[in-house]
Amino acid sequence: MHNKTITELAQSLRAKEISSVELTQNYLDRIKQHAGLNSYITVTEEQALATAALADKRLAAGDAPLLTGIPIAQKDIFCTDGIKTSCGSKMLDNFIAPYNATVIEKFNHSGAVMLGKLNMDEFAMGSSNETSYYGTVQNPWDTNAVAGGSSGGSAAAVAARLAVAATGTDTGGSIRQPAAFCGITGLKPTYGRVSRYGMIAYASSLDQGGAMTRSAEDAAVLLQTMAGFDEKDSTSADEPVPNYSADLNKDLTGLKIGLPKEFFSEDLDSDIAATILTAVEEYKKLGAEVKEVSMPMLKYAIPAYYVIASAECSANLSRFDGARYGYRCDNPEDLADLYTRSRGEAFGGEVKRRILMGTYALSAGYYDAYYIKAQKTRRLISDDFKKAFEEVDVLMSPVSPSTAFGQGEKTSDPIQMYLADIYTIAINLAGLPAMSVPAGFVDNKPVGLQIIGNHFDEAKLLNVAHRYQQATDWHQQVPKGF
Ligand code: GLN
Repeated sequence: MHNKTITELAQSLRAKEISSVELTQNYLDRIKQHAGLNSYITVTEEQALATAALADKRLAAGDAPLLTGIPIAQKDIFCTDGIKTSCGSKMLDNFIAPYNATVIEKFNHSGAVMLGKLNMDEFAMGSSNETSYYGTVQNPWDTNAVAGGSSGGSAAAVAARLAVAATGTDTGGSIRQPAAFCGITGLKPTYGRVSRYGMIAYASSLDQGGAMTRSAEDAAVLLQTMAGFDEKDSTSADEPVPNYSADLNKDLTGLKIGLPKEFFSEDLDSDIAATILTAVEEYKKLGAEVKEVSMPMLKYAIPAYYVIASAECSANLSRFDGARYGYRCDNPEDLADLYTRSRGEAFGGEVKRRILMGTYALSAGYYDAYYIKAQKTRRLISDDFKKAFEEVDVLMSPVSPSTAFGQGEKTSDPIQMYLADIYTIAINLAGLPAMSVPAGFVDNKPVGLQIIGNHFDEAKLLNVAHRYQQATDWHQQVPKGF
């Protein structure tokens, strides 16, 4: 049962082969059985079973949406009314959200069952899920390896069949890189496609919520539920939402694929390069044309991103001051002591590093040299993509320069950790949509193919990913023991 897709499960529920309560109980049992993965921060057992019972009634009455009764889970960055929303931080360990994020509201309307809240890097800062206050998430393919970050809990839970699907958020790669490390499908939509209302902010001009699923077909269903204009989010895009499942089977004859040569340099692991090029060959068989493109500005993406993301995070996280909500230190002497100790005691090392870097980059003497420079670089990177999309329909590349690395391997060297995002970060700077699709294995660990599209081309990306998933079975592989 737990290997079925959303569409298959929706059919089983309607054919009364299984009830949503049974299905939900099955997932809750699996979550307990595999608690060692540490993919969940909170399991909402009672609530899940109550929602499932309601879903069964709705299904029996007919006219239920496709997701009704399907057990999914939410990254713990989305505010959930009455339920702890920690963002992976000690700062919010005591925070019960007083309202729902728009994304959560939309899932509630769809009748989906929420199993719980998923582990993540603290405030979504990280590439390995090792910065979470709740501990490292294990990768189901190799429990000594990281699950990737920051949506590592989401990726591990979907890969291990501890949820049918999950949400993630992606500021610089946090949907795509953990999806690649755990062998699942990840979709980071165009900036503005999915509302950020109630999604705890890290870097507001880059953050975007999206889908983490086992297939492109399932990702289409999730995006359909999540996407759309929201007047509560001033950066939400007022663009019509197409039917994302309608074009999944479209023929790819004549599709123009660009391979950015800067993403296939000598630095790339040769086995990963070979895996990606094999996937590209598959696309040629499906009728696509492939050409090399050059995007010289890509090499500046990491420094530009880490200045901009840190600057925005230093502003966003200033609200956590011990006075309003979240962690408060014991017996503060005065206001300054309250701020300093609350923040000092509740933020982890990586979050503090980013706040320091961001505050520095925004300070009077350095603003022009760092922040403005990074913004100009961001524009040049966007222009590179714009030019590329005049010539091709989609771009393809690896998601990550390596497969899932070992736990503890990069924690002492932040620069090494930042370099893990080398292929994903530029896409956020340009606000583009991109997917990670399972494309093979190196040393028994999954490799992800990145497919990048032009703004609002999610339907095309899903079509391109789906055709590949019909021709290959990488996305159907199940980690041993799950
Ligand atoms: N690893 C990147 C960072 O730490 C991206 C994280 C994300 O996308 N949320 O900022």
